[in-house]
Amino acid sequence: MAETKNQTFAFSDKKRTDSDHLDGDNLITVKKQMLSSASTWEDPAAALAAARHEFGEHGGVNMSIEASATFTVMEPETLSRMFAGELGPDRDFFIYSRHFNPTVLNLSRQMAALEGTEAAYCASSGMAAISSVLLHLVSSGDHVFASTALYGGTHALMTHFLPRACNITTTFVDVDDLEAVRNAIVHGRTKVLYFESIANPTLKVANIPELCRIAHDKGIKVVVDNTFAPMVVSPARLGADVVVHSISKFISGGADIIAGAVCGSAGLVNSMMDLQQGPLMILGPTMNAKVAFELSERIPHLALRMKEHCHRALVFATRMKKLGLKVIYPGLENHPQHTLLKSFANKDYGYGGLVCVDMETEERANRLMHYLQNSTQFGFMAVSLGYYETLLSCSGSSTSSEMNTQEKELAGISPGLVRISVGYIGTLEQKWSQLEKALSRMQNSGSSNKY
Ligand SMILES: *Cc1c(COP(=O)(O)O)cnc(C)c1O
Repeated sequence: MAETKNQTFAFSDKKRTDSDHLDGDNLITVKKQMLSSASTWEDPAAALAAARHEFGEHGGVNMSIEASATFTVMEPETLSRMFAGELGPDRDFFIYSRHFNPTVLNLSRQMAALEGTEAAYCASSGMAAISSVLLHLVSSGDHVFASTALYGGTHALMTHFLPRACNITTTFVDVDDLEAVRNAIVHGRTKVLYFESIANPTLKVANIPELCRIAHDKGIKVVVDNTFAPMVVSPARLGADVVVHSISKFISGGADIIAGAVCGSAGLVNSMMDLQQGPLMILGPTMNAKVAFELSERIPHLALRMKEHCHRALVFATRMKKLGLKVIYPGLENHPQHTLLKSFANKDYGYGGLVCVDMETEERANRLMHYLQNSTQFGFMAVSLGYYETLLSCSGSSTSSEMNTQEKELAGISPGLVRISVGYIGTLEQKWSQLEKALSRMQNSGSSNKY
């Protein structure tokens, strides 16, 4: 037992020396190399490759899973020094896994590298990450400005839960209208401007640099949900203070795990983990180490997956538009923010993996989805996105059903909007012919000749 312990400590010591070049004040900074190259940060895949690689306890190429809720020490004084904040995860001292866990910390370092932030920490779901960050930055009596085009769950959090449980109110604004945003943010109680880089489900693209400039002029923090565009857009590099993710989508890619992350400064992450006040610590939206390990293994191929999602989305969107369908895709030149997205998207990833087709009525949307799934096997009727199979949903009656009719209208969600999360399974032409077949069935079954 003693021998095992010593060996472990010898290894830990080695790791500690290795990580000594980490900034001692910051508990969870990315590799120094990353920090020093932060100003020249250009590409998320390059940043991921430059981030620290953890090896396994026995020299495995993959890190060992630290599947422990609690951690032991050699001397009783060490515990009190850890609780006093003198010894932390930067020096390989861990207390309890609701606080920091080495395997979750490793995934968090990858998330920080991906988003080009100083630090990050992972949570049990996207909603856990979003609600924790809002509860951290906004206090009772304070106010949030948010885009009208938001994920249904976030919209419900801001419309119903936060006002009732926390006395936090939200005003929704159309973030396309920069002048309206500028004029709307006046009073000192507004703490956060919140929006999605590419909005769910309307695929509106936010002018991130300009919105950040406006908010920062007014002393307000900017939180951006980048769930729809990992790799494609890097909001923190464009000025956002905090980037949140639902890892359950593209980053996981397997449609098998629910997870989330908060990416921001080391100061933010450390204070969100504060033993007295930190929502990640106190509310406990903790990620399990085994889940963190699974996800860590998928991040290295996120860039490849995103490129294929985006490539196929662009091909399908272009071809469907040519057939005369009402297609919404930021990669098409007729998309209102196509030029904007092109101006700040990371090079060579594309324009996102989601395409929307407006079928005008829910009945036509449902009929199309029925053919696509049950006749031609193009995809599955299911909510969520970022899976290798194509997923189809009618947003108005599913993921955005938390919104009432007027709120949906304001957000630009037509009742016949079919959201397609384009998968990469099979060959592109095989999948296109399935899509084409379903579309021509649609035409044959309809009373009119149009789609
Ligand atoms: C799915 C989703 C969320 C919520 O994430 P969960 O992991 O399901 O909690 C938040 N924002 C957006 C844009 C999403 O698509």
